[in-house]
Amino acid sequence: MITLEHVEKHFGALHALKDISGQIVQGEVAVLCGPSGSGKSTLIRTINRLEEIDGGRIIVAGQDIHEKSLDLNAFRERVGFVFQQFNLFPHLSVLDNITLAPRKLRKVPKAEAEEKALLLLDRVGLREKASAFPTSLSGGQSQRVAIARSLAMSPEVMLFDEPTSALDPEMVSEVLAVMTELAQEGMTMVCVTHEMGFARSVADTVWFLEAGRVEAQLSSEEFFESGNNPRIRAFMAHVG
Ligand code: ATP
Ligand code: MG
Repeated sequence: MITLEHVEKHFGALHALKDISGQIVQGEVAVLCGPSGSGKSTLIRTINRLEEIDGGRIIVAGQDIHEKSLDLNAFRERVGFVFQQFNLFPHLSVLDNITLAPRKLRKVPKAEAEEKALLLLDRVGLREKASAFPTSLSGGQSQRVAIARSLAMSPEVMLFDEPTSALDPEMVSEVLAVMTELAQEGMTMVCVTHEMGFARSVADTVWFLEAGRVEAQLSSEEFFESGNNPRIRAFMAHVG
């Protein structure tokens, strides 16, 4: 579903991604973890071309995403992206935040878009907030709306870059619960997160990055039993 082959990325003199290869099979969840500055955000951003690469290949759903013929906007509609900061449109209601892209980009009729949005709000437990504005929402609620907004485009893949790290601790679990449900429904997901409980229970594979390299790419079981890898052990001691 997602294949990376020898991906390279430089920021000037900084070699940010070094010969990264790997695969995320359809319906699987990959968690990317590793120390700050190891390249997690850079890597996940290459998957929908928010970050361009300077070597290697990335294939998403059979499509080489750097092919000249690629329609980038159409491609991005197939890949949902949820950031640390929720980036909801402050001047739009929750419902309008969710229906905006389907209506504008897909020309979905208003009533149909709103019907789907309400179902998505049910799914993230926020139907009663449909007419609320983002400033009245908690961080956890905002992030759940952001996930619903992504899902409104029926993406084939969902990318998450530290979706819970800006949240107060008591709101982390409500967002992880939505992500867990999504994974159980078979969504292909790539998640940068330090939530190791989530990684252990939901991830199929864990990628451990260090200084721009994938130091380990293991099944979740293997990763959590990899007590003999001193780098992973040191990292785990920090994130709990
Ligand atoms: P964190 O856990 O702190 O979010 P990360 O693993 O996501 O870290 P990245 O944000 O991918 O790390 O950064 C990897 C390296 O690339 C860092 O050294 C960072 O300073 C650098 N970097 C990232 N984006 C840019 C940019 N636009 N220009 C220059 N350097 C960058
Ligand atoms: Mg990051």
